[in-house]
Amino acid sequence: MRKLVEKVLYRLPEAIAARLFETVRRVPSVQASIEKEMEEMMAGMRQSVKPYKGRVPEFPKMPGQGMDIDEIIGIMEDLQEKESEKWKHGYVSGAVYHGDDEHMDFLNRVYAIHSQSNPLHSDIWPSAAKYEAEIVSMTANMLGSGLTEDEICGVVSSGGTESILLAMKTYRDRAGKEKNIRSPEIVVPVTAHAAFDKAARYFGMKIVHVPVKEDFAADPEAMEKAINRNTVAMVGSAPSFPHGIIDPIEELSEIARKKGIGFHTDACLGGFVLPWAEKLGRDIPAFDFRLPGVTSMSADTHKYGYAAKGTSVILYRGRQLRRYQYFTITDWPGGLYFSPTFAGSRPGALSAQCWAAMVKMGEDGYMEATRRILETAEEIRKGITETDGLYIMGAPLWVIAFASDTLNIYQVMEQMAKRGWSLNGLHRPACVHIAITLRHTSPGVAERFVSDLRDAVSHVKQYPEEQGDMAPVYGMAATIPFRGLVGDMLERYIDLLYSVD
Ligand SMILES: *Cc1c(COP(=O)(O)O)cnc(C)c1O
Repeated sequence: MRKLVEKVLYRLPEAIAARLFETVRRVPSVQASIEKEMEEMMAGMRQSVKPYKGRVPEFPKMPGQGMDIDEIIGIMEDLQEKESEKWKHGYVSGAVYHGDDEHMDFLNRVYAIHSQSNPLHSDIWPSAAKYEAEIVSMTANMLGSGLTEDEICGVVSSGGTESILLAMKTYRDRAGKEKNIRSPEIVVPVTAHAAFDKAARYFGMKIVHVPVKEDFAADPEAMEKAINRNTVAMVGSAPSFPHGIIDPIEELSEIARKKGIGFHTDACLGGFVLPWAEKLGRDIPAFDFRLPGVTSMSADTHKYGYAAKGTSVILYRGRQLRRYQYFTITDWPGGLYFSPTFAGSRPGALSAQCWAAMVKMGEDGYMEATRRILETAEEIRKGITETDGLYIMGAPLWVIAFASDTLNIYQVMEQMAKRGWSLNGLHRPACVHIAITLRHTSPGVAERFVSDLRDAVSHVKQYPEEQGDMAPVYGMAATIPFRGLVGDMLERYIDLLYSVD
């Protein structure tokens, strides 16, 4: 297998190599050999994916007799304690955005009060509708100051991905109805979140990925060129997940407005940071509904809104547009049925705790949190810049991606992992990022990051031949012929997550 790769495939033009490889891999003996290598790889990962195997009671089948509740709680508290060690002490990029004990205890109490609530039954739980209406209204107010409920409206979803899927479905359906577009397309910068690709695959749309400029911001000219008669929406991020760069939303949204298509600002990361950064006097380019071309926005309450996982807000310019998102059915034997999002029954308790988080934080709370995050990010950016061999991608604020021209950056990431850090590996181009959260703002965390990074870099300089686990996989994903193979591997990995043996 490897010999074939090195001798032949790497020397051919990529497109030809891809086709050749697809043919070759269908040969039974090759297929068997690939299968075997993948199985071995998964077996190697089993240990780290299933660390509790054989150490904690397991239930591949239900217990015949129900288990004692104290015992259940005991097991779960044990697991939870092990798993909070890292994020609590600020060793993790993103993931837990607030995480102070007092804040979490408060949200848990709120969840417990509402654990049976289901917004699908708004007659039984009108409180759920109240909470959701106010979450949307507070968010709309933050991202479209001066605009009314008639102008900016929205719904609560289960997360950033659902908000994005909903928006893309909305644009598809609007274009189908109002413009009779049957082969809808969306235009996104390559740095837009994978959720847009997911939307395109789920809803049968074409997605056009447009390269970004040298500073990793979207290229308005190139984006405009990618628009055609079938384009239903264009996308920009504020900021982008990979490099934390704010796209030129003003220019992009104006292009969309002039072409008469939708424009979505993905503010999943920035929605609850940028408005406060602006109030703190930072130079933040316009990105929200104050720009007339912006017709929808996603903002994640379960990230920098500091709610527990499971909520996000999708906002639209005008109720007419929002209605394309809704589902209603009037001839189902189950009765008149409607739902605003993809789910039917929904956890009302999550909306309740989201509402409570926002009301507890208030403007002053978000402002102070943002101030702390931006200051910590400044310290970390300085530390990276001053580390010989590393550079920062573009000019980010608090989601900071860095790379190297001389070192294997995935090796630096693995050396950071050896020192306890869980950072995000990115590719095309190869880099690593850290999303600064309130967890990193505790005294000493930024210093520890910087000194560990120095150590990690000097280790990699000393042992440049070390390969690690991730570098070869990313290397393979970077070549067209083997991208499919890496995709297959990711599927096996999901299989592994769901396996009990
Ligand atoms: C996190 C994120 C998303 C997706 O959100 P999920 O809550 O993980 O589904 C989308 N866009 C951006 C910019 C994000 O950071």
